[in-house]
Amino acid sequence: MGNHRPKWRLPFVTDRATSVYQSPLFKAKRFNIQNAKKCEAIARTTGKQCGQIALRGSTRCRRHGGLKQALIAEAERHGRPVIANRAASIRMKALIDLAITTPWPPALPRLPQFDKMSKVARGRLFEAYFNRETDPETYKHELTRPR
Ligand SMILES: [Zn+2]
Repeated sequence: MGNHRPKWRLPFVTDRATSVYQSPLFKAKRFNIQNAKKCEAIARTTGKQCGQIALRGSTRCRRHGGLKQALIAEAERHGRPVIANRAASIRMKALIDLAITTPWPPALPRLPQFDKMSKVARGRLFEAYFNRETDPETYKHELTRPR
């Protein structure tokens, strides 16, 4: 029979005498909640191990800070660079995103003090640059402020 699945992936076995059932090979390879890796964090409320299923690539669950580790592991799995965006607020996140994703505008002068700027400061400068028509004072301030 022209089945493209590998043997162990065949979920059902049938022996015409009895009925259809899941193959033992499939059951062994399938995600098993009993053997799943558990979160290693100690819960503050109970003082015991958390016990939730840990995220893939992480030793912890979502609630105990496993997400960052898991995100980095996933990025590595896909061969992507890991960009850590640790910002205190939504505005700072937006500024960092602006700084990362926007190429340097050709009309914006590249002053020497801009070279060692933080991502947030760079985002703030870009924002002031893009709003220079409506808010020229902020743009001037961003250009001349000490770094
Ligand atoms: Zn946990």
